[in-house]
Amino acid sequence: MENFLKTIKGIKDRGDAQLFIDGEWRKSSGSTVLDVIAPHNEEVVLQYVEPGTADMDAAVAAARRAFDVGPWPRLSPAERGVYLRKVADLLAERMPELAEAWSGQVGAVIGFTSKASYQAPGLFNYYAGLCDSYPFIDERTGSMGGNRARVVGEPVGVVAAITPWNAPLVLLIYKVAAALAAGCTIVAKPSPETPVDAHILAECIAAAGIPAGVFNMLPGGREVGDHLIRHPGIDKIGFTGSTAAGKHIAGVAAERLARVSLELGGKSAAMILDDADMDHVLQSLVPYSMPITGQVCFALTRVLVPKSRKAEIVDAYTNAVSKVKVGDPFQADVGIGPLAMNRQLDRVLGYIEKGKAEGARVALGGGRPAGLNRGFFVEPTVFADVTPDMTIFREEIFGPVVSFVDYEDEADMIAKANDTIYGLHGAVYTQDPERGFAVARDYRAGSVTINGMQVDIHMPFGGFKQSGIGRDGGIEGLENYLETKTVYFA
Ligand code: NAD
Repeated sequence: MENFLKTIKGIKDRGDAQLFIDGEWRKSSGSTVLDVIAPHNEEVVLQYVEPGTADMDAAVAAARRAFDVGPWPRLSPAERGVYLRKVADLLAERMPELAEAWSGQVGAVIGFTSKASYQAPGLFNYYAGLCDSYPFIDERTGSMGGNRARVVGEPVGVVAAITPWNAPLVLLIYKVAAALAAGCTIVAKPSPETPVDAHILAECIAAAGIPAGVFNMLPGGREVGDHLIRHPGIDKIGFTGSTAAGKHIAGVAAERLARVSLELGGKSAAMILDDADMDHVLQSLVPYSMPITGQVCFALTRVLVPKSRKAEIVDAYTNAVSKVKVGDPFQADVGIGPLAMNRQLDRVLGYIEKGKAEGARVALGGGRPAGLNRGFFVEPTVFADVTPDMTIFREEIFGPVVSFVDYEDEADMIAKANDTIYGLHGAVYTQDPERGFAVARDYRAGSVTINGMQVDIHMPFGGFKQSGIGRDGGIEGLENYLETKTVYFA
């Protein structure tokens, strides 16, 4: 908590100037005061004035200038990579602050955030590496008798980067590091509830010497976000958030054919095959069915178990989860913190009631934990005897609520796993990796882990179906921010 308070003090020392526009900290022209609340004790740790539409316009104008006439898109990729490495080094120096900002605003446990925050400098270093190795200019020979062409990856332009609150820094950096590597300029709109990490990022980008206007940062809510996506100065919208907001954004972008990539919701399946070793399954299923108190898009919230092993698997999982300590996310022995905000608590409790009402059996939890009256805590909850028609199986709850469904045979398992509008991630557990690979091919999702749970920043991540369009991370994440131009030499 000490490092979090230090970061907050640094932000407060800027007084009213809480928006990063055109290389400087500026005061908002708006009037709505927003609170940042620590979810484990409900204390207001920071207040700031939400940006007004005039501030968004100023940020887009600055990013537009930096793109249209500024040096950034005109540097060689290798020159941009040097700046990206500087940002990575500066972020790495502030690792304890990054981890605590995540825990302090979202309630994610410190044991997790202190490891996962390394993705922040990791992404900048990774995209700096691609600045050196990616074929931004590809020499080709055509079909018309030795004619030559250069196929060029050009930056897509001014990017609106809009991100949610659950992993505020990492999700923003997926977009920012890739877009900067491509030569784009950016207006970032982080979630209003979790602006602190984005302040640290803006400070590091400024300290690295990236030119004014290339990166602008204005935390704010839906209305100001809506103004941003409709702005004709925005060429590309890189969005991570709910499927409902993603559909709206895709509709707005379609009107002017602005480029758009969408990282949306999920309802990922853990498919346990009949030969799976339960000790091995539990090592990843316990933490990754409820990461960040279940508030992660790829959380494994639907567990599919063979009918013959149903009782054994539900008991083993429930027993393991019941041993995870719920409490203050800053305590090293706590495995599950609070939900991130009061509206999340209402939402999750509402789904738990719906699960009970629709006839699922509560195998664990099902309410608020005893003795934790301050903070947005909810019990880790396991529902058994869930059927695919139940709301808790179909909708993204975004909380620590896991549903167990049994299946007859592998075909039945695949059918149930695919019986969803989502297609983000999944896991297959089996002692035969090639059998697992065959199941992974049949499951309709952007990524699948066999015998564990991995999301690697060097690999593409994103959704099939209503889980999104496009990929963040990996080489594909860079290509999200490139347009293809063919230049012929006649
Ligand atoms: P949300 O859609 O409510 O908000 C996400 C962001 O979009 C916020 O910054 C919000 O202010 C902004 N926003 C909302 N409506 C907007 C509009 N009309 N115009 C412009 N901006 C708008 O989502 P949330 O509650 O913050 O986040 C939770 C959701 O995010 C879950 O559905 C989760 O699965 C999803 N998510 C997906 C991924 C992924 O990589 N696929 C990662 C994390 C979270």
